[in-house]
Amino acid sequence: MSARGGGVPRQLTLRGFGPSPVGWPVEAELARLRVKVVVDPRPGGCHHWVGAIGDDGYGRFQAGSGPGARTVRPHVRLFELTYGLRPVGVPLLHSCDETSCVAVGHLSVGTQALNVAQMHRRGRSYRRHTSVVDRRGPAGRARAIRAALADGWDQPAFLAAVAVGDPFNGQLTLPLETAG
Ligand SMILES: [Zn+2]
Repeated sequence: MSARGGGVPRQLTLRGFGPSPVGWPVEAELARLRVKVVVDPRPGGCHHWVGAIGDDGYGRFQAGSGPGARTVRPHVRLFELTYGLRPVGVPLLHSCDETSCVAVGHLSVGTQALNVAQMHRRGRSYRRHTSVVDRRGPAGRARAIRAALADGWDQPAFLAAVAVGDPFNGQLTLPLETAG
């Protein structure tokens, strides 16, 4: 069910996607998106959205222009612009659990059932400090990261910003993949 690594699985094209309502070319819009993104250059690092952030911790971005413009979540919009297809009725899951991350490679297309199963699994075995467990909630965390990265990637500032919300106080830092 993953959309990473290139193409969109054919069955999802049939069952989970609709055509993008916004026409091409999209280069101008991609440029407008990218100036609001700060990339963590470490392996597997997130692409942090530093534009508007909603109270749900997800970014906000105006897609399109004129009468067709609409406010969307930028990670969804980047997925749409990358694949030319829009997820319909299926969530885009963040493998990194950073709601404000817009790295297309960190997104998987899931069903609601998968979403719930993933949440339950994490509830039992979560070992990593992300927006799922941040004491400030996803929006507070996302805004703190945005403030830390206001002048571009700054690893000490980033680490300090996320440490404030760490419910484990730095005691549990294993990556998700080894958490069991
Ligand atoms: Zn990410």
